[in-house]
Amino acid sequence: MKINLANIKKAQKLLIKRECVAIPTETVYGLAANAYSDIACKKIYKLKKRPRNNPLIVHYLNNQILKKDCNFNNDFLKLYKKFCPGPITFILNLKKKSKISKIITNKKNTLAVRFPRHPVTRKLLKNISFPLAAPSANLSSKVSAVSSADVRDDFGKRVKYILEGGKSSIGLESTIIDIRNKPKVLRLGGLEISVIEKTLNKKIIFKNNPSKISAPGQFKIHYSPGIPIRLNAKKIKKDEAYLSIKKLKKNKSNFYFLSKNGSLKEAAKNLYSTLRKIKKNKHKSIAVNKVPNIGLGKTINDRLKRASKF
Ligand code: AMP
Ligand code: MG
Repeated sequence: MKINLANIKKAQKLLIKRECVAIPTETVYGLAANAYSDIACKKIYKLKKRPRNNPLIVHYLNNQILKKDCNFNNDFLKLYKKFCPGPITFILNLKKKSKISKIITNKKNTLAVRFPRHPVTRKLLKNISFPLAAPSANLSSKVSAVSSADVRDDFGKRVKYILEGGKSSIGLESTIIDIRNKPKVLRLGGLEISVIEKTLNKKIIFKNNPSKISAPGQFKIHYSPGIPIRLNAKKIKKDEAYLSIKKLKKNKSNFYFLSKNGSLKEAAKNLYSTLRKIKKNKHKSIAVNKVPNIGLGKTINDRLKRASKF
């Protein structure tokens, strides 16, 4: 994608003035602000209506810059080399002298960090002297935004500027891994656990235990399109949309599909935009056909399951 420098300048100016700007990433769009400024970070919580105890992911250009704020270990470096920039978020220990705003860490001594791959946001990060705190650019507990139009739909004029970056290429949030001791995945995401295991040559712990929440991406109700979802549905009710992973031979106006031939990568990319489209088309609920529980299918099922707790 061609980078429009005038747009980057506009975003840069607003961020320096401690305003929020929506930014494109390969996972989903983010609602970004200066991670060193309390004033700027408070604006994110207010705009998103996000509970103050839900900490934010901070986005860096590279690990050299991150050195100022966090300590890292060998496991981090291995994964960084292999997957960054990319859809993986690390939980690390904060350095005492770090300038990261206390607003976004929920007073913990840990920080969630990520290195986005999207060229527009990388160019923006090169042009500013602070990292960007950025949760997904959607209203709290709702479906994430994967295009500038989605962000506009959720926030209208309340977001001062949306940096255009086309549709997010992955379409699911990052995989969150606590890398400080025994590696532990806290949220499934755009990078599969099996490839992380291969790189570290270690078994990764993943316990989906919502009674002991350390990353609210683990909350049971999340990613909701605002209408009920039924999983593994066999029959379709009146006014209901039918969602399947692959295009069916039989096609009706209330049928939606996530990929042409069942590709999980394509399905992941289309998941949130299709849920938004179904809601816009005024269906009352969604019946979802079975999604294979392998690879990215696990992340898709995780999101659908949480979305179904409406
Ligand atoms: P989102 O708001 O969609 O960008 O998701 C960010 C996720 O990262 C949320 O589930 C947060 O709770 C999680 N997170 C951020 N910082 C931390 C941290 N220090 N420890 C654990 N989880 C975190
Ligand atoms: Mg989110």
